[in-house]
Amino acid sequence: MAIVENIQFIEKEIEGKGVTLVAVSKTKPVEMLMEAYNAGFKRFGENYVQELVDKYEQMPKDIEWHFIGHLQSNKVKYIASFVSLIHSVDSLKLLQEINKQAAKNNRVIDCLLQIYIAEEDTKSGMTEEECLEILKAETLEKLPNVRIVGLMGMTTLTEDETQIRKEFKKLKNFYQSLTINHSQLTILSMGMSGDYAIAIEEGSTMIRVGSKIFGGRIYQK
Ligand SMILES: *Cc1c(COP(=O)(O)O)cnc(C)c1O
Repeated sequence: MAIVENIQFIEKEIEGKGVTLVAVSKTKPVEMLMEAYNAGFKRFGENYVQELVDKYEQMPKDIEWHFIGHLQSNKVKYIASFVSLIHSVDSLKLLQEINKQAAKNNRVIDCLLQIYIAEEDTKSGMTEEECLEILKAETLEKLPNVRIVGLMGMTTLTEDETQIRKEFKKLKNFYQSLTINHSQLTILSMGMSGDYAIAIEEGSTMIRVGSKIFGGRIYQK
């Protein structure tokens, strides 16, 4: 697997577009991540707390770890001391727990609100209304140890490009409407191996790419 070449290829595609690449390394062994690291790439995304903690402990400490999966409130404490960005905040309750654990670690943790955009029940996320509630000043002032820096979304699992584009567009429009009053929002995390090109055309600023870098996964987590 030409991990470094794959990363370089994608970095070239996104060059000058204001897009950040997160290499999604879930299910992949530390040796594979180290190949990327040794070539200078230090931004990885994981979706299981235990796996993330294991990799964090084994790998160099200048890595930027992104959490991208469904996060249970009772597990926040395990990653609060080191996680760089949590992409997948899907409730106020979770955000409150992140705030609490961040405070214990004397940190402010950057978070994205995951918005439900797919036309299927399997993807988690919050509605636009829930997102607006959270972004109210009264809510945020009680959460000094989290900083909401953007939104994340996942599209319906489909080959239908028109559908995917429509969902990205919807998220982008919502994001843009929010940035008018919320200047702290600078990240729009959308796009994976199969659809990041469309996502970038539709305004993504952060893509999460796994299989196109590390190869397919036996267990689709
Ligand atoms: C697994 C995963 C990805 C990467 O998926 P690929 O199709 O392998 O690029 C991106 N985002 C989330 C939230 C994921 O769980």
